[in-house]
Amino acid sequence: TDISTLLLSRIRDVADYPEPGVMFKDITPLLADPAAFSALTDAFAGICARTGATKVVGLEARGFILGAPVAVRAGLGFVPVRKAGKLPGATLSQAYDLEYGSAEIEIHAEDLTADDRVMVVDDVLATGGTAEASLRLIRRAGAEVAGVSVLMELGFLGGRDRLAPALDGAPLEAL
Ligand code: 5GP
Repeated sequence: TDISTLLLSRIRDVADYPEPGVMFKDITPLLADPAAFSALTDAFAGICARTGATKVVGLEARGFILGAPVAVRAGLGFVPVRKAGKLPGATLSQAYDLEYGSAEIEIHAEDLTADDRVMVVDDVLATGGTAEASLRLIRRAGAEVAGVSVLMELGFLGGRDRLAPALDGAPLEAL
């Protein structure tokens, strides 16, 4: 579609970042292009409307940049999922495995209620570990999952399969 072509044209491949052998997908050219950023925000907001989302959860840090304007455009609240130790209030924490070692993310549970249907927004789905952990946090906070929306899915890493059980039938949309 034309939107995919527009978005893809604004993503820069950076070789050997952050380490040798990795081709990093850099979204900063897209953010700097108002037409592309706006089209992306509209597309995400449309997914929120179609899935009946009531809140947007953005994953630190690029999920904040992409998710916050989606929440405003869709008329929804925004809830950040942060790396451990950054949120000041009472948090739920979820650890997950990385290729080497592990990571931990947190949410303010009180910002979600049992009536919420939550759309997770991030830039890139790689192994799916971060998104999977965020879905656990959302369910542990008592809310429902409306879906996961990402700009890009790195299909060769198998994130979609890893995420499927946690999605439990909710959609994974990659623009
Ligand atoms: P995962 O947990 O799916 O392996 O990794 C996803 C997280 O790592 C996302 O929050 C995403 O921002 C970041 N990430 C992994 N690879 C890339 C990449 O090539 N480009 C960008 N922009 N982010 C990446």
